[in-house]
Amino acid sequence: MEPEQDLQESRARYFGRCAAMMYRALQEHPGDPRAPVESLDLTAAEPGHEGLFDQALSNGLAAIVATHWPGEEARPNGHVYFARDLLKVIAGRAAEDGSPGVHLIEDPAPVEPLPPGPAGTIFDVPRIVPEPVITRVDVALLTEAIDLSGNARHGRGNGGLQRCHIEALLALDDHPALGTLTEEITDQDGTRAREESRLSVAQAQSLLELIGGDEAGRRAEAAVNPNGYDPKTNPEGIEARDCPVCGFETFFGLGYDIWGWVAYGQCAVCSYQRSQRMADEEGARRQIEHLLNEDD
Ligand SMILES: [Zn+2]
Repeated sequence: MEPEQDLQESRARYFGRCAAMMYRALQEHPGDPRAPVESLDLTAAEPGHEGLFDQALSNGLAAIVATHWPGEEARPNGHVYFARDLLKVIAGRAAEDGSPGVHLIEDPAPVEPLPPGPAGTIFDVPRIVPEPVITRVDVALLTEAIDLSGNARHGRGNGGLQRCHIEALLALDDHPALGTLTEEITDQDGTRAREESRLSVAQAQSLLELIGGDEAGRRAEAAVNPNGYDPKTNPEGIEARDCPVCGFETFFGLGYDIWGWVAYGQCAVCSYQRSQRMADEEGARRQIEHLLNEDD
């Protein structure tokens, strides 16, 4: 592995570990964005270090800055700049989103859409393309948070950090260089789950090309949901969903992620499979979005 990549991954892992601790602290403080997060102990990071929040922030920001503006995250001797300075880099480089102090970082590697399949076949549909990932960096709020967390070094456990400061930090996890919070929370190997999922999509697409549109249509017609919902005989059952690969309403769920957002199971037409782990990963993402949007 390239040393630079290695460094980026260890920053991301460290960010994820610290962010997960703060995420858990947030669960105990629903509601008011300006409520202090009392249960958070910023001194929980390694002794002698600058504290949990600052560590997470400087590692997360360094990974982001190194991705977009390599070299601006560290001094020539390799020492990473303080979080406050990294925020200044972002403020100077990334466009504001309309709210003062909030800067948007573009997707470093947006996915190009594939052209639609041959006209008149079931493949003549727009391909599913992930939305570009835009990362929101609230420079103003995070700078305020650095000032507050500094108080923790002078004897106040949480330094007076509020829910909104933690949320602004957790929002950095959207950046593709990070994305480690979800893995930490689900305590699963998210990278492997994503690889399995990509493989399953590719296999399903090959199968569709192989069997052709007519056969796919026949399979869809004949498909029977083994776990269909029925209020009397199978109240725990799951209604068929549109398959994200072939588009037929033949994605049959066997169960849900632990938060109940995303079904895992298999498509009866193209055989696309969503594993329980992948459902958990997507579900965790949905759950975080849901929790962060609750205040709005
Ligand atoms: Zn399918």
